[in-house]
Amino acid sequence: MGGSSGFIGKFGEDEFGRFLLRTLEENHVDTRAVVLTREAKTGLAFVTLKDNGEREFIFYRQPCADILLTPEEIAIQYIEQAKVLHFGTVSLIVEPGRSATYHAVQWARSAGKIISLDVNLREALWPSLAAARQEIYTALSLAHIVKVSEEELAFITGNNESIEEETNQILALGPGLVFVTLGAGGCYVKTKHFATAVEGIAVQAVDTTGAGDAFTAAVLTRLVEIGLHDPRQIHDISLSTMQEICTFANIAGALTCTKNGAIPALPTKADVEERMGQVRMNAK
Ligand code: ADP
Repeated sequence: MGGSSGFIGKFGEDEFGRFLLRTLEENHVDTRAVVLTREAKTGLAFVTLKDNGEREFIFYRQPCADILLTPEEIAIQYIEQAKVLHFGTVSLIVEPGRSATYHAVQWARSAGKIISLDVNLREALWPSLAAARQEIYTALSLAHIVKVSEEELAFITGNNESIEEETNQILALGPGLVFVTLGAGGCYVKTKHFATAVEGIAVQAVDTTGAGDAFTAAVLTRLVEIGLHDPRQIHDISLSTMQEICTFANIAGALTCTKNGAIPALPTKADVEERMGQVRMNAK
């Protein structure tokens, strides 16, 4: 997306770990904070597409390298250079990875960084759904920006209220900005001042894997580009700017669906901008 990013985590010193390291580097992600271990193998996730196009995940984890990341292995001076710290909840399932993740998030928060959370619920990995919900609540209380799917939103709030009511419940936990991704329907965004839904972009979808990540990457890059460097500025973002950001992110998500895989399917900033131009033309 034209921004700069780095990854913090632990891989096994094996072929899969080296493959991930290489893949990140090829995609210009800084890997200096990646730790390698011989204590466990790199965790594996298989993504399959069912006949109806739905995704299914099969995980080979526990023991695996990423959950062995310790708080002491988090390079705080590395986070110091960032404007945004983004995390998900898979690293909150097992210790010491959970403590390591919270250590990074708490430190970044106290240093005035913007904290972004992708709820990314993977039910099969949790000991129980109650445990998942409880941990997600803690994670939400630490985040300024949250991205959830409709299903995750219903799971977190435990009810079937309107999207407005459900996102209000998320905002009440602390975040200032909530994005709900709606698949082909685009997205819905809510702040303390406004809410808006932005229609999706029509594409021939072949595989939606990675769409949510492309969406979030686009949102975070655009927010930093427009000058968001401090969580307190979130409330200054106007409705029209937010709509523009949502369209940009919907395009990034939609284009990712047109190719197989996650990382190989991610569009470049130029791809997204080209489509953005067409959307603007059509709107005139
Ligand atoms: P997640 O991958 O996190 O479940 P979604 O599947 O909702 O998230 O996708 C994220 C974003 O990608 C959506 O908000 C939308 O902008 C775009 N997107 C996803 N699926 C499609 C699709 N079939 N057609 C067009 N855009 C899509």
